[in-house]
Amino acid sequence: MSAATFLYKSDPARGRQWAEVFRRRAPEIDFRIWPDIGDPAQVRFLAAWEPPPDIAARFPALEVLFSSGAGVDQFDFTILPPALPVVRMVEPGIVRGMVEYVTHAVLDLHRDMPAYRRQQQEGLWQPLTVRPAGERRVGVLGLGSLGQAVLAQLVGLGFDCAGWSRSQHHVDGVQCHAGSEALQDFLARTDVLVCLLPLTDATRGFLDARLFSLLPRGASLVHVGRGPQLVEADLLAALASGQLAEAVLDVTDPEPLPQAHAFWRHPRIRLTPHIASMTQPLSAAEVVIDNLQRFERGEPMLGLVDRARGY
Ligand code: NAP
Repeated sequence: MSAATFLYKSDPARGRQWAEVFRRRAPEIDFRIWPDIGDPAQVRFLAAWEPPPDIAARFPALEVLFSSGAGVDQFDFTILPPALPVVRMVEPGIVRGMVEYVTHAVLDLHRDMPAYRRQQQEGLWQPLTVRPAGERRVGVLGLGSLGQAVLAQLVGLGFDCAGWSRSQHHVDGVQCHAGSEALQDFLARTDVLVCLLPLTDATRGFLDARLFSLLPRGASLVHVGRGPQLVEADLLAALASGQLAEAVLDVTDPEPLPQAHAFWRHPRIRLTPHIASMTQPLSAAEVVIDNLQRFERGEPMLGLVDRARGY
């Protein structure tokens, strides 16, 4: 690879782990951790969660922007040079974390653990009927790198699985639905709805009263996409009416939630602080170096964002 500066602007402790991988696999690259940027004119590659607002003027030779996390919704695309390729993070560590989190949440709901936790608080020893996994219909919104990996695990556990996406997919053992005209049928057969959609103009406010009303009564939600996809008041109303039974939320808007927010102490909501999965520095650096090599060979990079679609 020709001489170049790769600038990392995210958590510095993780950056030092990236640096180790770059030293071993791509020693010709001058890997730097923000704010030690060296000569800005030499910066050809930037990995960041939040790029500097003057990115275009500051790094005139920039050739690729890598997101240090899975989403790119945190980027202000209006300040990025229009032709600059933007790459989201697709790496095995993020995928494994999400598979673990969603599998845990689905099993917890499937085996009535929220009800048993409430029963324990009441000192109540009351077995509930155990339903086989094959009778539990799980539906995943988003059939991307995360949605497909999650579904592979859930299919393996025997759940009745479906997925929904913009374009048609084929996933072994999964009923795949595509497009807005297929949404109603997908929701009508879903007992546990998992949201793994990226945040775009089309998905902001997507989890709303209308969508909840199309689920079978007593369905549950596992939300691991992005906070602004959920209409909070509609979730509270659906839980109050019994249309939804339980919600597991890993993402909120804002993050963290204000202390007085209703979600904190709601008996039917379980909240985690956006930890469903995290970029693992060592495998992330490996994946980015693989992508740099693809880029230098003129091949398409994995995870390249289509700016018109927003993901
Ligand atoms: P991805 O590979 O880009 O997949 C996105 C999927 O969503 C695709 O299947 C896409 O359909 C579908 N989609 C997008 N917009 C749609 C729309 N308007 N209607 C229907 N389907 C639509 O993304 P990913 O890597 O799986 O990640 C998904 C999201 O998970 C990320 O964007 C991020 O927000 C979230 N995430 C959360 C955490 C956490 O810790 N909570 C961690 C990582 C990621 P097509 O296949 O037809 O394009």
